[in-house]
Amino acid sequence: MTITQEQGLVLKSYRGFYYVQDNHTRIIECRPRGKLKTRVLSGDRVMFTPLEDDKGVLESILPRNNEMVRPRVANVSMVLIVMAYDRPLPSLTLLDRLLLLVQYSQLQPCIVLNKCDLPVHQTVTEILDYYPRAGYPVHSVSARCNQGMEDLQQAIHGEIAVLAGPSGVGKSSLLNHLAGLDLVPTQEVSQKIGRGRHTTRHVELYPLDNQSWVVDTPGFSVLDMPRMRREELPGWFPEFNRFAETCKFANCLHFKEKECGVKNAVEQGEILTSRYNNYLSMLEEVMENERCY
Ligand code: GDP
Ligand code: ZN
Repeated sequence: MTITQEQGLVLKSYRGFYYVQDNHTRIIECRPRGKLKTRVLSGDRVMFTPLEDDKGVLESILPRNNEMVRPRVANVSMVLIVMAYDRPLPSLTLLDRLLLLVQYSQLQPCIVLNKCDLPVHQTVTEILDYYPRAGYPVHSVSARCNQGMEDLQQAIHGEIAVLAGPSGVGKSSLLNHLAGLDLVPTQEVSQKIGRGRHTTRHVELYPLDNQSWVVDTPGFSVLDMPRMRREELPGWFPEFNRFAETCKFANCLHFKEKECGVKNAVEQGEILTSRYNNYLSMLEEVMENERCY
């Protein structure tokens, strides 16, 4: 009798075993067949041979789409950039920086404004008005009051999503809520149990269903500008394109040039001033880095 192999997704590894979700929602405890050449990561798509009692043998790793370093996870496709309505107020500087890093990493950004049960400040209104027009999806949710969560779940459908954003915005709360768990300590609890920053953590994917996952460890905590040529930067600000058509110079950096469509659009209020200023400070960083090559 031949046993056919099945495809699955590695949710976590623990003590030499890999926990592989099959194409349904079953989780199979797999040991590797012999020594695998590559280190298996959470997020890896693998072939395994099922045995009895939800056990199996991991046979091979399928090619990865990508591999993230912090956290160490494969095949992430989406980044949930989380900010709060309040406590803490959103930072547009951080938001624009994260949007750049996410796009540069070839991942899909999804802006999540959590704590929509709190008062609406000017910055929040700006995000809600501007970013969807610039082409970025924005979801207003409240993990605490269970608002907007279904829409967010739909946005994650078919994706392996990693959370990003400053501390206190509700990343752990959202993860708990999305995965229907009460396992991940939120800030208050983790301070109480004193889980230190140096505790070894195995990255784990939490399945929302058999087609959507959220990674339990936030990413994009390192915010250094990636190395690129200065001409590349404007391309990562998609809403600038339309206005750049009227720039006098084809390779306009929208910086010191005269007759610049982008600068005009900023003056006309069609491009958010903070967005343009954040662009300029990133441009300066890129130019600074160019000198170090
Ligand atoms: P993290 O640091 O981003 O993981 O944030 P946490 O999930 O630890 O949440 C930080 C604080 O915000 C906690 O006190 C949560 O109870 C609170 N919080 C989370 N979601 C909401 C929400 O939707 N509304 C309000 N008002 N508070 C929330
Ligand atoms: Zn220009």
